[in-house]
Amino acid sequence: MTANLLDFDLEGLAVFCEGLGEKRFRATQLFRWIHQRGMSNFDDMSDLAKSLREKLKVHAHVAALPILSQQFSKDGTIKWLFDVGGGDAVEAVFIPEDDRGTLCVSSQAGCAVGCRFCSTGHQGFSRNLSTAEILAQLWFAEHFLRQHLNQPDRVISNVVMMGMGEPLQNYSALVPALKAMLDDHGYGLSRRRVTVSTSGVVPMMKRLSADCAVALAVSLHAPTNPLRDNLVPLNRKYPLDELLSECTLYLNKAPRDFITFEYCMLKGVNDQVAHAQELVQLIRRHAANGLRCKFNLIPFNPFKESGLLRSDDATVQQFASVLLDAGFVTTVRKTRGDDIDAACGQLAGDVKDRTDVASRIAQQRTVPLHWHPTQSKPTQN
Ligand code: SAH
Ligand code: SF4
Repeated sequence: MTANLLDFDLEGLAVFCEGLGEKRFRATQLFRWIHQRGMSNFDDMSDLAKSLREKLKVHAHVAALPILSQQFSKDGTIKWLFDVGGGDAVEAVFIPEDDRGTLCVSSQAGCAVGCRFCSTGHQGFSRNLSTAEILAQLWFAEHFLRQHLNQPDRVISNVVMMGMGEPLQNYSALVPALKAMLDDHGYGLSRRRVTVSTSGVVPMMKRLSADCAVALAVSLHAPTNPLRDNLVPLNRKYPLDELLSECTLYLNKAPRDFITFEYCMLKGVNDQVAHAQELVQLIRRHAANGLRCKFNLIPFNPFKESGLLRSDDATVQQFASVLLDAGFVTTVRKTRGDDIDAACGQLAGDVKDRTDVASRIAQQRTVPLHWHPTQSKPTQN
């Protein structure tokens, strides 16, 4: 087995190059060819010495993930389903907006946390992704988009670890992937533009603040322990006060001066005015110790097995106004890619039917006419 070079951050690649008897700075050149230029063929890396290229051909490769499907939404969103072997698949979603292009990346095949409202959680845990499998999503998407938009410069300006899986339960693979995203010789994204979303793995939040303090989003979903225990089972291990105290500490290292709290609005379950009031009290208690936050209310994307329903728009607005009146910045997430099931919590990665995959992909690999990345309204159909 040769090494997949997508498995390394720059430091890891330097160690690998040293192992081949090469100088460390060769790793920088190699890293730039791979991540900035999207190259996988060592013969195309023209400024590398021929002797190094020959060694690389023997000991290394740069492998993308096979694509099972590629779907284009009328609103410009694209969803890719990648094959990670053994019947598992993971998804990445590109969400274009006027001032940014965000890629939503998966960290695990399935998820062990098992939140009630999440289809990935219902699927159960299959396995952790490797650093290469995490980075391959960005590597492929960035260079695919550049090529298809005929744009030499960066297309993806933001990465959110909000796809399938709990990133902080795959810490050792996550951190090198984040470092490659931030590296000036890699994707050059600022720490503010890379967000890890977590259901609240408290000890790993502490480690992240020390190792690679990117922006943090915490999936809260409930103002009290009994309710959160029920929706996010991990709360039994790391209850709210412990979680919020760790959020407060994270701010000392965070690239932004607030934590984003995500709150999935579930009809009749956590969306009442009384819940919003309890939430205000909870956060105010921690604000006294320095917690600063913003709320992002997420309309629930329903799926059958959950037995849960989406809150009405009016209920969401009412909930938002309680938070706003209490002085908290609060936004309601726009749902994107509805026509291709690309929204949060819909990423199930279920690959039961592999029949005729090749011809399905052949059809889907052509960019459809209606697709344009900044387009918000369909031009046909
Ligand atoms: N495991 C991490 C990151 C992946 S989930 C976490 O839980 O934060 C990304 C976001 O999607 C989380 O805020 C999660 O609560 C939300 N989500 C999951 N299922 C959803 C659904 N069905 N509808 C809306 N949001 C959902
Ligand atoms: Fe896992 Fe996040 Fe889904 Fe919960 S919401 S099951 S932590 S992916």
